[in-house]
Amino acid sequence: MLILFDHPVMKDLRARIQVSQAQHLYRQPRISDSPQQPVMTIDGKTILNFCSNDYLGLANHPQVIHAFQQAANQYGVGSGAAHLINGHSRLHQQLEEALASFTGRERALLFSTGYMANLAVANALMDKDDIIFQDRLNHASLIDGALMSNAKLMRYAHNDSEHLRQRMQSNSSPDAMIMTDGVFSMDGDVAPLATLAQIAQQHQAWLMVDDAHGLGVLGKTGGGLVEALQLTPTDVPILMGTLGKAFGTAGAFVAGSHDLIEYLIQVARPFIYTTAQPPAIAGATLASLELVQSEHWRREHLQQLIHYFRQGATQLGLQLMDSNTPIQPIVVGESAKALQISRRLQALGLLVVAIRPPTVPNNTARLRVTFSAAHTREQVDQLLSGLSLACGE
Ligand SMILES: *Cc1c(COP(=O)(O)O)cnc(C)c1O
Repeated sequence: MLILFDHPVMKDLRARIQVSQAQHLYRQPRISDSPQQPVMTIDGKTILNFCSNDYLGLANHPQVIHAFQQAANQYGVGSGAAHLINGHSRLHQQLEEALASFTGRERALLFSTGYMANLAVANALMDKDDIIFQDRLNHASLIDGALMSNAKLMRYAHNDSEHLRQRMQSNSSPDAMIMTDGVFSMDGDVAPLATLAQIAQQHQAWLMVDDAHGLGVLGKTGGGLVEALQLTPTDVPILMGTLGKAFGTAGAFVAGSHDLIEYLIQVARPFIYTTAQPPAIAGATLASLELVQSEHWRREHLQQLIHYFRQGATQLGLQLMDSNTPIQPIVVGESAKALQISRRLQALGLLVVAIRPPTVPNNTARLRVTFSAAHTREQVDQLLSGLSLACGE
């Protein structure tokens, strides 16, 4: 028998959900019956997808799947414990060493998710009297990390180094940290890292870059924004990357000096008090890291698709953003309009999600188009003709 909860608190929740529906802000997961790839089966229908973060097309790569299966045969499924108990397998260890060498840093530390890695860093390094400076458009996990740390959080205008400079000059603290996305997840533009590094050095502040969307995609060998801008570990002492995007697996890491990583291991609660990710994920990531580094054609093809799309979209008169990354948002403004276009695209067999507040600022609802090296040029043509139909009045 269905039990209906009629407690006043429950009614309040229902009312709040109804408000979000009325404001076109209600969200719901779609159900997929296929691997992450361009053509998927979603909610029972075949659809061409332009919304994943599988930028290099590795989430369903045969070598990555094979490595995952082999590791599962050898290590089973669950790690069974936290890293500091007995959940840290040899595959985790090898992956940490491989990620350190990939990013040109002394050490790397695995986390079960990027969200947790970001909570960990702010918490471990920043205290009550310290200040964390963050770009206004940073990912929610960086913001939440700062809030959880008890340090003071000050946000500066998006990519505005002058504003940051002013804020740092008029606010002093024992320790300060600048935290920024490398590639901004909802806009696709990149942080002015060289300038941020200078400012950090002048103020003897930490600089942490969350390169969730840059790693694997930018830089000659996929080393991300730091590699693309030819910055050193001294410029960017704390580098965070996620493995669920270009790497096509799951989890995240923080890379930095030996002392930084040792300290995180001792005190970072989101590292200490959680189960290690399954060893097979680490095994699969070792395989995808090889592909990230060796298969340059994936990055080149992706860049060609991005360029091709931007040309086509500009011809259609669509409002693009200042982005050369696989994140190519089309700003629409009102949430209702973004939803309407997204629904029209879906009727045409194209999946492009509408991103609405609070993920983005009010009145900047957008269609967030993302590309993968697994897309073909013909598929981009399909997207462009869909957009020309769906964006009309
Ligand atoms: C996706 C993302 C995260 C969170 O990583 P997960 O591994 O998915 O938890 C953190 N920061 C940024 C910028 C992201 O885009």
